[in-house]
Amino acid sequence: MHRDPHWIDGKPVPPANGQWLDVFDPATRKVASQVADGDARDVDAAVQAAQAAFPAWSSLPNSVRARWMERLADALEARNDEFARAEAIDAGKPFALARDIEIPRAVSNLRFFAHAATQFASESHHGEAGLNYTLRLPLGVVGCISPWNLPLYLFTWKIAPALAAGNTVVAKPSEVTPCTATMLAALAAEIGFPAGVLNVVNGLGPSVGESIVQHPGTKAISFTGSSAVGRRIASITGPMLKKTSLELGGKNATLVFADSDWRKHLDTLVRSSFQNSGQICLCGSRLLVERSIHDEFREAFVERVQALRIGDPLHAGAQFGPLVSRAQFDKVLACIERARDEGGRVLCGGKAIDRPGWFIAPTVIEGLGPECTTNREEIFGPVVTLQAFDSDEDALALANASDYGLSATLFTNDLSRAHRLAAGLRVGMVWINTWLMRDLRTPFGGSGASGLGREGGLEAMRFFTEAKNVGLSIK
Ligand code: NAP
Repeated sequence: MHRDPHWIDGKPVPPANGQWLDVFDPATRKVASQVADGDARDVDAAVQAAQAAFPAWSSLPNSVRARWMERLADALEARNDEFARAEAIDAGKPFALARDIEIPRAVSNLRFFAHAATQFASESHHGEAGLNYTLRLPLGVVGCISPWNLPLYLFTWKIAPALAAGNTVVAKPSEVTPCTATMLAALAAEIGFPAGVLNVVNGLGPSVGESIVQHPGTKAISFTGSSAVGRRIASITGPMLKKTSLELGGKNATLVFADSDWRKHLDTLVRSSFQNSGQICLCGSRLLVERSIHDEFREAFVERVQALRIGDPLHAGAQFGPLVSRAQFDKVLACIERARDEGGRVLCGGKAIDRPGWFIAPTVIEGLGPECTTNREEIFGPVVTLQAFDSDEDALALANASDYGLSATLFTNDLSRAHRLAAGLRVGMVWINTWLMRDLRTPFGGSGASGLGREGGLEAMRFFTEAKNVGLSIK
């Protein structure tokens, strides 16, 4: 059986404790591979390798670091379909989604931050007190911890700016979907990427993840995952005064106004609810619809949801696959039961699909208000609720009735309403008449329980550097 080891100092390394974890194919519930069940010793070895590689990597000219990242991007692009297949098996996502969107985006992440390395510049200030200039220096060894929902896409979204800014990295993908991050580390070694610059330590969150967070040798932690784990990480890095970026959960609202071309946007609305079986932090899980179109919308939306092609992720044409793991499957089914207990009416789905994998039918629920747990807690699966609103104020109050604040999407043809609401929504990102439209230069992240800090573009380059001001007298 295929085994994913750690990659430390440019070499595959078995776990120090000799233990391996099973990795399941969510479409069959069968063990597909195994992954190293690392511990603090493996993390320590990786930090040491990264520390040894730091002086040479950080002192390379930016353009040379960029060139290495471009080479890695080229090598990944050449193997796009191989990586996409591995991602589809590991995560249970439709192959086409991995092939056409997620792996290409991982390539773009590497390319984008390679360019950022050559374009990143710092400020100078004069005219008030001498001449000041700012140095933006790499931090050293940084820890990057990523989740299972968009495995390589989010892994590269973190490591690329860290490397571009001149840091060396100890990274941990989720042990649920470790394959493509491990393949990328192997690919880096294959193209001769400097050893020790990118280290991957596989294993569980509480052992490997927490060891990376606690290690005195990691100078910053960039984490994407649940709010609960984000809080736990902050409780460790806070007292250590370690720089921390947290991209956490969401309970995003989608607002549909009567004046919008909502029929034209139905495909986008279904995608924004159910792409990757709803396991995207940016999926809209609370659909808020203006009352005058509510019944008509409900009928058309449910019909479109029921037409989603559910199938084996590797089959061409499958639009909707299983949930990623047994734990996620059980959790989502329990959330649907809770919604029923709270008085929710299930309009479609609401149950497991009779197939071998961890499939749950795309589910739409109505009849629950903003105070219900179903509308407050993140489910992170193929479940959306429908609520009606009567006015802009009503829509805004419903949308903001959440501790989370990641993103919101609104559909309207009224420009001033769109801008007014965009300013009033308590979230980090708003889309108008579209969803998940990404320009990698823009700030990415959320407020409240959705996280601390922003990724993307210069925000990420700033996070992964320390600003040092140098002031001199020019008298
Ligand atoms: P998770 O359980 O928080 O895990 C995320 C990562 O952290 C995994 O690699 C996990 O390892 C590791 N981890 C777990 N416990 C840890 C600890 N004590 N110390 C350090 N690391 C630890 O989240 P998930 O279930 O994988 O992902 C789903 C969540 O991510 C959802 O809440 C979703 O909204 C959020 N998300 C947010 C964004 C965003 O950009 N805001 C993007 C994608 C996903 P194991 O896998 O071994 O537990």
